[in-house]
Amino acid sequence: MGIFSKKNPPDDFKSLREKMVRAQIEARGIRSERVLQAMREMPRHLFVKESLRDEAYGDHPLPIGEGQTISQPYMVALMTELLGLEGNEKVLEIGTGSGYQSAILARLAARVITIERIRQLSESAKAVLDFLKISNVDFRVGDGTLGLEEEAPFDGIIVTAGSPAVPETYKSQLAEGGRMVIPVGDGFTQTLFKFRKRGDKWEKERFTGCVFVKLIGKYGWRGDESL
Ligand code: SAM
Repeated sequence: MGIFSKKNPPDDFKSLREKMVRAQIEARGIRSERVLQAMREMPRHLFVKESLRDEAYGDHPLPIGEGQTISQPYMVALMTELLGLEGNEKVLEIGTGSGYQSAILARLAARVITIERIRQLSESAKAVLDFLKISNVDFRVGDGTLGLEEEAPFDGIIVTAGSPAVPETYKSQLAEGGRMVIPVGDGFTQTLFKFRKRGDKWEKERFTGCVFVKLIGKYGWRGDESL
């Protein structure tokens, strides 16, 4: 079955999207009009399996296969807002997953590079973005805990998997004034942090508690690194 079927024509979900933005995102304090607009317009249902499309605008994560998830809409909005994007930034995303967060970032920044450790997820995410004609996202497969030295520095780094600590690689790959959002904690629950680089100092802010799948790699959790 293609991305659209007769059962799910593309504009079927517009009112659900608007409701999602009002009830889940604005109501919880997200104020950036650019973020709200991107989320009003991005067809989130295309980033999940056809059998889950009716749930795509619910207030929760959803499975995307390979034991991974597409994050809760509010979490996507919050992390995106914290990056403070104005349109000309280069952003590194760790954990492509479904590609939904990458697509939102692509609307708000000049260029996005997204790294995923599971090739199959990266390929299906790329297929959705190609379908949506989003062309400013560069897909890489590999261990995102290493960052991407050859493309550094980044104005924003967003880590969409839970890490035991902040990998030093990210700190050294962030531009002056750059922002990083990352969930840090144990393997089950984390706290969302935002870091901002100011000279040789780091401003650190703590946000909400959250639950992400594990960041698996050299500077994350140990796991099956053969994927
Ligand atoms: N941003 C995604 C979205 O919008 O669908 C959600 C990402 S999901 C919560 C976390 C993803 O991080 C998973 O797809 C997982 O395979 C990936 N991941 C975990 N460790 C990684 C690593 N070291 N490098 C790259 N991707 C990793």
